[in-house]
Amino acid sequence: MEATEENDLIIPRNSGILVSKSNGTVVLRLRCKTKEEFQQWKEEYEKLNYVTYRVLRGRNCEASKVLFKQLYRCQHNTVPDYHKVKKPSKKHTDCPHKMSVTIKVVVKQSRSTDKFMPEYPTVVKFSGAHNHRVKSAESLKFRDVGPEVRLKLIEFFKAGNGPTHALKLHKRDLMEQYDEDYDRVACDAARCPSFRSVQHLYTTLFKEKYGDFTKEKLLESIVSRVEVLKSEGIKITCSTLSDDFCISMCTPIMERVHTFESSGSICFIDSSGNADRYNCRIFLIMTDSCV
Ligand SMILES: [Zn+2]
Repeated sequence: MEATEENDLIIPRNSGILVSKSNGTVVLRLRCKTKEEFQQWKEEYEKLNYVTYRVLRGRNCEASKVLFKQLYRCQHNTVPDYHKVKKPSKKHTDCPHKMSVTIKVVVKQSRSTDKFMPEYPTVVKFSGAHNHRVKSAESLKFRDVGPEVRLKLIEFFKAGNGPTHALKLHKRDLMEQYDEDYDRVACDAARCPSFRSVQHLYTTLFKEKYGDFTKEKLLESIVSRVEVLKSEGIKITCSTLSDDFCISMCTPIMERVHTFESSGSICFIDSSGNADRYNCRIFLIMTDSCV
């Protein structure tokens, strides 16, 4: 199901009912019985309606009647006053749109007069209209990476690809899939995330698996690895300056080139960046030859 107009509201299939809609306020009742079920519904709703919500405030409840209560804001309201930010990001439009959720506890023999219980224990209330176009490229570029795209990127990482290559592979798939529509899809960060988001995902996963890798630990590991390679007869050296480092290496095939007369007079430098999560750059020094 696709949204056809701006600010259309699409309820994920068979998940709940529309109770009322008036003066910019919409009330839904959902089948969700737990916080986890609601989170899943929220993800689906965000995907269908091209919106992203952030928690404004909320809590798990100990009360016998209410299980969970939360208030969400549209991500285009970054609450700069609360965060004491003087110059808000471009994402901030001070959007007044909000979503509140209350999950009621389902009890067997209830005397509740709520006619939607026990089938629809979750109450969702939307208030205030968005003050920006929901499906414009300007709004779409701020969306979170979609769950399917996230999983796909993780698979690329597991196969040994870094963030740059993983994103390149994903974009190539999108080009094949959407062909002339690619430019439209590429504007949507949920389907075509920015390099920064992909790199963030990569770094987060790396940290989860191996812990935080500080620069000191990284340098220590590099220096010991260089020593091992040196002992194996490879021409390699590592220079460090503060916490920056530079590794120079000459492979056996490169060594052969040193015998060329031209290698002493002309050389070309090729450089590539984003080679890894630390943004190291690789400089390849080449010379011309008649071969
Ligand atoms: Zn909004």
